[in-house]
Amino acid sequence: MSTTAPIRSLATEVSALFGELGIDPERLRGGSLAVYSPIDGSEIARIKEHSAEDVTEVIGRAQAAFLAWRVVPAPRRGELIRLFGEELRTYKALLGRLVSIEAGKILQEGLGEVQEMIDICDFAVGLSRQLYGLTIATERPGHTMRETWHPLGVVGIISAFNFPVAVWAWNAALAIVCGDSTVWKPSEKTPLTAIATQALFEKACARFGEVPDGLSALILGNRDIGEVLVNDPRVPLVSATGSTRMGGEVGQNLAKRFARALLELGGNNAMIVCPSADLDLAVRGILFAAVGTAGQRCTTLRRLLIHESLYDTLLARLKRAYLSIPIGNPLEPSTLVGPLIDKAAFDQMQRTLSTAQATGGNILGGERVLSDIYPEAFYVQPALVEMTTQTDMVRRETFAPILYVLRYKDFSEALQLHNDVPQGLSSSIFTTDLREAETFLSVIGSDCGIANVNIGPSGAEIGGAFGGEKETGGGRESGSDSWKAYMRRATNTVNYSRSLPLAQGIKFEIEG
Ligand code: NAD
Repeated sequence: MSTTAPIRSLATEVSALFGELGIDPERLRGGSLAVYSPIDGSEIARIKEHSAEDVTEVIGRAQAAFLAWRVVPAPRRGELIRLFGEELRTYKALLGRLVSIEAGKILQEGLGEVQEMIDICDFAVGLSRQLYGLTIATERPGHTMRETWHPLGVVGIISAFNFPVAVWAWNAALAIVCGDSTVWKPSEKTPLTAIATQALFEKACARFGEVPDGLSALILGNRDIGEVLVNDPRVPLVSATGSTRMGGEVGQNLAKRFARALLELGGNNAMIVCPSADLDLAVRGILFAAVGTAGQRCTTLRRLLIHESLYDTLLARLKRAYLSIPIGNPLEPSTLVGPLIDKAAFDQMQRTLSTAQATGGNILGGERVLSDIYPEAFYVQPALVEMTTQTDMVRRETFAPILYVLRYKDFSEALQLHNDVPQGLSSSIFTTDLREAETFLSVIGSDCGIANVNIGPSGAEIGGAFGGEKETGGGRESGSDSWKAYMRRATNTVNYSRSLPLAQGIKFEIEG
């Protein structure tokens, strides 16, 4: 384990990082929302929260900004995102470090998160010249029919603590190129990275010139201000990332007012390891997906289904690897597993492990470590839990590094177990058998939004559409044609003839 304690206080470091980003460090003080670093549990800021009235006012400005921004040509809108991508490149190291300090990810993953923001900016810039509609064959002579895509309005973005900035960028870069304005409610656990990101966006706006005030606004506080955003009739779309509980509430509230929901919720991602699997690859794939980000990714590997012929061999290798994982301060380069976000996450993990114990689970790891050095923080040994059946506990998402291991006999049984959970986010198979691989990707295979072969379920690229089915919420963000969620589609029929034929051959003649 790597164990070195931070040399200077994290609060001092955050203050210095704010200074380097050009943000007044006074913003870190004097408010009511306490922010803690999961690295050592220390308070790193106390920021001002927005009231419900503030949120209403911010949405009003975003609405006015939308009316101005929607008529700016899309390639010009792309130029703003190009400039923002440049700011992110310049400040990648600082923002990545802040992500590590505030969310507890290892530095490599903090930097990776900012790289993901840069990638989606590049994607959005290209997209700004490709917001294509279709031309459609019409049954009427002398007519044309086509689809046009128009900006939608104010897009609300609610984000979770574990991807404190990338998820916003997936949404905002596309929404702004599509001609929308955005209002962002980050997790109450990670407002500092949001303030930093907003400051970088404002730098890009200043270089661009002529950005309407309020085009991209930030609201800070607890879930109650998220509710104000969700319930405001001026917000036609809310993209919400977080727990299934949150998605259920947000989805219902949006449905009441016929607004659109883009939901990115919990996962319970599995991997099937088949008899022909390349075990060296599988072990590496399992470790990154199961213990990376301390098990706090929506795509974290939570269920491992191993063919009985490999079960003992693979499990023995995993047990060895689990016991040598470097756990510690995420800012140290040698660390691969950082802390859990807070005590509540630790308590939830321990409750789940008690249930596992009581329901016949065979547990390796799971205990708290480094409490002598970091008494206010929660580092854990990732847990491997052998289960004989897929119990209700296994079918739930516990947002912590717990990997359930199950044995299977035949492939159809593995597929059945794989899909027999309420969530449908990500999935993977390790096999060199073409039939198994293609079956897994086929209509009778994985029921998830993401299905991979010979790579783990986590660590998606921005080029594909990201999201999942069932309780994961059905939303798709990021690449492919996800941009369509941020626009409204109009079907246009134009008659350039001198008669007025009706569709379906209907005759409706009136002398006039
Ligand atoms: P959370 O649900 O506790 O909070 C997420 C956000 O929702 C926060 O900003 C919170 O303030 C807000 N919120 C909560 N209740 C609300 C309500 N009723 N109305 C409006 N806003 C509300 O989630 P978390 O603990 O921050 O994140 C972990 C969860 O997020 C896990 O379940 C994980 O799988 C999921 N997640 C999913 C994805 C994905 O893309 N599918 C990505 C990251 C995280």
